[in-house]
Amino acid sequence: MNAVPATMAALVRRNSGPGLELEEVPVPRPGNGEVLVRVLRTGICGTDLQIARWSEWAQRTIAAPLIPGHEFVGEIVASGPEVGGFVPGQLVGAEGHLVCGKCRHCRSAHGHLCTKARRLGVDIDGVFAEYATLPVTAVWRHPPDIDLDTATLFDPFGNAVHTASQFPVLDKIVALTGAGPIGLMTIPVLRELGARAVVVAEPSEFRRQLATRLGATAVCEAGHEPLASSAKELGCTEGFDIGLEMSGHPDALDALLGNMAFGGQVAVLGLPARPVDTDWANISVRMLTVQGVSGRRIFQTWQQVTALLDSGARPASVVTEHFPYTEHAAAFDRACSTETGKLVLTWSEPRLS
Ligand SMILES: [Zn+2]
Ligand SMILES: [Zn+2]
Repeated sequence: MNAVPATMAALVRRNSGPGLELEEVPVPRPGNGEVLVRVLRTGICGTDLQIARWSEWAQRTIAAPLIPGHEFVGEIVASGPEVGGFVPGQLVGAEGHLVCGKCRHCRSAHGHLCTKARRLGVDIDGVFAEYATLPVTAVWRHPPDIDLDTATLFDPFGNAVHTASQFPVLDKIVALTGAGPIGLMTIPVLRELGARAVVVAEPSEFRRQLATRLGATAVCEAGHEPLASSAKELGCTEGFDIGLEMSGHPDALDALLGNMAFGGQVAVLGLPARPVDTDWANISVRMLTVQGVSGRRIFQTWQQVTALLDSGARPASVVTEHFPYTEHAAAFDRACSTETGKLVLTWSEPRLS
């Protein structure tokens, strides 16, 4: 534990009002099977925004005090007992769903369905801090020369890859609702997987422009232009083959379901803040398949992410701004705007590798 201080800066969710507090707290000590990581970069995610603004979901879910944050890259600085194969200086990330390893899903290689999973930065202290401890079973080793923003994005890029690969998209016309950071990262993945066209519905002009730059065939202004008109321009008169709902907006699912081709397939990653009405007749009459998506397929997805990076994927192009962690309040304010892509907080620079 050489050179590891006794205390560290951390963003803490206290049980009071909106916003996170920057506090000096003890550096955690790695227990059995855990490593201690110096955090280098963290991504700000919609989940973190909900925890910061103390939304109804957050108040129901979070046991304060809590250090949020789950998207990160860090550098190993120490290991607890019973840890082999990890050495100081290694660049690492971690799967944010810490699965139990014992339930029927975990024991049949379906850990992504584990109902006992603890979520980093939601159920247990996360990575909005100078240091964090992580069980080695969740840790992912990065190559030493990986770009730090790219490494920070493995978790949300994994959401994108997992959603894009729910259904075969080769030669298909895909509609995608919601061009937030995950939706944006999904567009080049769909093109790489062979989608004939990708139509993106998004209210923000800034994000529609980013979507076009990332390979969207057509964009439409959600809430103003109907998805159907973009489909017709592409000669897609029967509706979309594949739909990906990535916004959580109450109107998006209905817009998507109403524009699907007969036999179409829809994956839903977006998480609406409240129950939404939808016309169920679209599902039965159009004979649609609707697949819910959450998280990633654990390390299978991390391996797919690595393969896509090797073949030229550049998810870090959605990072539009960096903030030092001391400017967290400004960063969280900015992250609420739709005139941004992904925002990254910087905590420290690599020292050991
Ligand atoms: Zn996230
Ligand atoms: Zn389990």
